[in-house]
Amino acid sequence: MPDQNAHNHPGVAHKGGYAKIGELGGPCAYCGCISGEWDYIPPRRRAPLSDARRMKVPVCLDCGNALQHVAADTFDARAIELAHRLRHRYRSALSACRLSEDELAELGDNLRNRVQATIELGTAIEQRLIVIQNAARAP
Ligand SMILES: [Zn+2]
Repeated sequence: MPDQNAHNHPGVAHKGGYAKIGELGGPCAYCGCISGEWDYIPPRRRAPLSDARRMKVPVCLDCGNALQHVAADTFDARAIELAHRLRHRYRSALSACRLSEDELAELGDNLRNRVQATIELGTAIEQRLIVIQNAARAP
């Protein structure tokens, strides 16, 4: 997970009381995709003013969207909830990955092409989920 003490280091900007850990356009703190917005930890509406461990991390739009109403107030807890939500959001694509070659061969060309695109999406999601789970476990 990002270093929660980074806000004590010189050169880390403080904006709105949140230590900025990372840069927009850099990797999503959760999945590694290109980021486009901030995730506030704890979420802004929940953060007590005295909480010295507030930070914001760059997130990709997909992770940011999935985290929008997540109340969890630590990076690890948010990563775990994010993985859960992405698994649910992409459940069709993730289950398409489990189709066998024989099952694919039975499909017509158009449907098979669409299913193969879904399988590629599911494979990419599986890889993101691994990165997210590893991020939550990192010391
Ligand atoms: Zn992400």
